[in-house]
Amino acid sequence: MSTTDVPYGIGGDWNPNDCNIHLTTVGSMLHLNTAGMDAAEFRKRGKEMVDYIADYMETIEQRPVYPDVQPGYLRSLIPEEAPVEPEKYEEIVKDIERVIMPGITHWHSPYFFAYFPTGNSFPAILADMLCGAIGCVGFSWVASPACTELETIMLDWLGKMINLPEDFLAGTSGHGGGVIQGTASEATLMSLLAARSKVVKLIQADNPDCVESEILSKLVAYSSEQAHSSVERAGLIGGVRMKKVPTDEKFSVRGEALKMMVEEDKRAGLIPFYFCATLGTTPSCAFDNIIELGPICNAEKMWMHIDAAYAGSAFICPEYRPLLNGVEFADSFNFNPHKWLLVNFDCSVMWVKQRADLIGAFKMDPLYLKHDHQESVLSPTPQHPDPQHWQIPLGRRFRSLKLWFVFRLYGLNGLQDHIRKQVALAKEFEKLVRDDQRFEICAEVILGLVCFRMKGSNKLNEMLLKRVNGARKIHMVPCQLSDKFVLRFAVCARTTDSHHVHEAWGHIVNVASELLQELSH
Ligand SMILES: *Cc1c(COP(=O)(O)O)cnc(C)c1O
Repeated sequence: MSTTDVPYGIGGDWNPNDCNIHLTTVGSMLHLNTAGMDAAEFRKRGKEMVDYIADYMETIEQRPVYPDVQPGYLRSLIPEEAPVEPEKYEEIVKDIERVIMPGITHWHSPYFFAYFPTGNSFPAILADMLCGAIGCVGFSWVASPACTELETIMLDWLGKMINLPEDFLAGTSGHGGGVIQGTASEATLMSLLAARSKVVKLIQADNPDCVESEILSKLVAYSSEQAHSSVERAGLIGGVRMKKVPTDEKFSVRGEALKMMVEEDKRAGLIPFYFCATLGTTPSCAFDNIIELGPICNAEKMWMHIDAAYAGSAFICPEYRPLLNGVEFADSFNFNPHKWLLVNFDCSVMWVKQRADLIGAFKMDPLYLKHDHQESVLSPTPQHPDPQHWQIPLGRRFRSLKLWFVFRLYGLNGLQDHIRKQVALAKEFEKLVRDDQRFEICAEVILGLVCFRMKGSNKLNEMLLKRVNGARKIHMVPCQLSDKFVLRFAVCARTTDSHHVHEAWGHIVNVASELLQELSH
């Protein structure tokens, strides 16, 4: 439409000179027609952006992995207010390098060894583009059938890739199913809320006079003292006590430890109802002993949720699948393909054995969301599950496209290669540490994380980390294990190679030698 056309139903028989109001209207219509971007320019800019992204990825290791800016750096670089008139695209592009990149921690640099990995791959980025274009909000089957159905099928594919018991899969005669949550934190919270609702109903069925508030005040949930902070937070949000179970010398929760706490709490009149097991703890990648813990939870009618946010991706390799043994006792299981399975944030997958527990806990049915196919939601073989009942928000993106693209372009073999390569790199780093008498390994290296420190005080190790990170060549974060300040070396970026690991170790050793020399004077 040209700018002289008259849109929005305004008649053509008026004279712009009639009054000022008309002139103002014409003025803003002109802007409506030139603002934003049309398809022709999108084609051009889109291709440029793809080139920029490919260049960024190919040259990322030349950038300092950690930014050299102070809090508040950005405010002085951009105007105080949003532009009133449209700007040129070129101006925005210039600002990416001027304003944004100086303040980026490059998580996909092969010199990034902090936290846990966050997934990234070209197929996932492309799928995310398509997701943005379709831009549907897939809360129910009718809201976007493909979005809902692909998700169910991808969760079955992935469930089979990690050899999850059939009870958890939707495409079987069981009562389970999977859903994509935004994050592991949301999955934990959903499981806790479902468990809470289930136990209240159960108690009220036997004791109709029991009021909910009284039951809630007696509920107690458990997790490892090494569990992620999001688990404790789920307890706070869910309004229930959350107790931390002590771990053994390998930072793993054992059956006996949980059992003792549960017995004691029952004697005190409390109602144990939920245990969150961690497979691959955030500090040291330790594994709770779910083979011991599962039967205890089952016998006590406690919901067992498994948080395997990081480690879960490794279960696609048969050699790591034994770490998941005991999942058959669980009520729900979750991990983050957006951590270690080359899928960009956000994509956290969750399965439940009884989907009715989850759906039944939070079902809302306003008229504007009703549709002809909702009966099948609770049927034994749900062809049209309504994801809105499985999660906290109503709206949801078409995230399964990322899984679909990544699974098909890598294949199971390609994904296994990725996991194996990163574990091998961690083992390589572990050997370098073990070969240096000044250092020690602080936890068993099972997957892609190495916990290590210099023999000596916590202070010494704090100084070491501060200097190592200060040079901004590599980036790591610490953790605390049995009162010790420990450095975590997590193999993160998809492109990390042996030489990056060796360079990182070389840097750490140089800083350590420097430090020891200074301290000896
Ligand atoms: C990373 C991590 C989380 C948090 O993951 P989000 O998806 O960001 O909520 C939870 N649990 C464990 C064990 C983790 O390592």
